[in-house]
Amino acid sequence: MRARLSSVRAHRHRVPLLRPFVTAARRTDSVEYVVAEVVLTGEDADGRPVRVTGQGSAAETAAVTGETAQSIERLLMTALRPALEGRTGDLRTFSRLIAATGTGGTSAKAALEVALHDAWGQAAGIPLAELLGGRADGAMPNDMTVSLESPETMAAHARAAFDSGTRILKIKLGSSPEADRRRLGAVVEAVPEVRLRLDANQGWSVEEACRSLAAFAADGLPVDLVEQPVAAADTAGLARVRAESAVPIMADESVWSPDDARRLVDAQAADLFNIKLAKTGGIAAALEIADVAQEAGLKCMMGAMMEPRISITAAAHLAFAHPAVTTIDLDSPAWFAEDVPDGGFAEERGMLRLCGGPGLGLRRLPPEDSAA
Ligand SMILES: [Mg+2]
Repeated sequence: MRARLSSVRAHRHRVPLLRPFVTAARRTDSVEYVVAEVVLTGEDADGRPVRVTGQGSAAETAAVTGETAQSIERLLMTALRPALEGRTGDLRTFSRLIAATGTGGTSAKAALEVALHDAWGQAAGIPLAELLGGRADGAMPNDMTVSLESPETMAAHARAAFDSGTRILKIKLGSSPEADRRRLGAVVEAVPEVRLRLDANQGWSVEEACRSLAAFAADGLPVDLVEQPVAAADTAGLARVRAESAVPIMADESVWSPDDARRLVDAQAADLFNIKLAKTGGIAAALEIADVAQEAGLKCMMGAMMEPRISITAAAHLAFAHPAVTTIDLDSPAWFAEDVPDGGFAEERGMLRLCGGPGLGLRRLPPEDSAA
């Protein structure tokens, strides 16, 4: 379908988190995010007029993407809006126009590109996962993140997540190997039944990573994968860790674009990619990374920053749309003191399902003063 992008708007929101989110790179108590709203007009296949509103979102993640809510809103309204508003085309055309709007600002671009995908799905009357060629009726096990805290606090958070039905925990590590081993020991003692994903967020040297992973393996810890053990730019280091590790290595901060994915494949530096829309700048590039993975025989996880439900719903649709995406790490809405709007996806006993409905399947967020 070809359609006209009639308007682009942005609203800012700040939401406290229910508990601090702590990684090797940052500590966060609240999240400010931007909702991008687009109005699309056109005609459906039968020539009937269509007018739909789509939404996407982007959260401040200065420690990772360098973007604040202010910079996201500014890019949306002063660069992306003038470049796209009033233009007519198909969805692919708009994705290309967004990607061509300079480098950086990937969160802002993702918010707008997701809003357009939501609108296109609504115009077609089908869930986004189906618009992307997948099915919207499956279920995937989700995980719950345990922040980088004291061993006792991490054990308590792990137990609480287990009691609420989660069977996969993502454990934030990345300090000294000895301290990380104590944290992991406390978690495993508290919840011996869970599977673990470890995320060092670039916190280890190559030597520390190799030493830690060998120790974890020797102790028989239930670790399914290790995310970004070393610095994002250290492709050779990542490849060395992967060569020595008995556990699959996932690239996160090292993979932002399809070119990054190809470089990591060529260097044999990763077994898995963590795809986040806030890094790729939207769905088109995310799918391209998944294609690169599939061709190389790698698998992907759909992850996200500490982002609101709109962003997470988009990531979930993509997870159900591409065969190379076999795992998800989409727990951030459960951290938000105010998790709006309704719909999109539902989670029960650790299993995530899409709610159905066209596009993202969300209810619209009531407009708010953009200065709020
Ligand atoms: Mg990560």
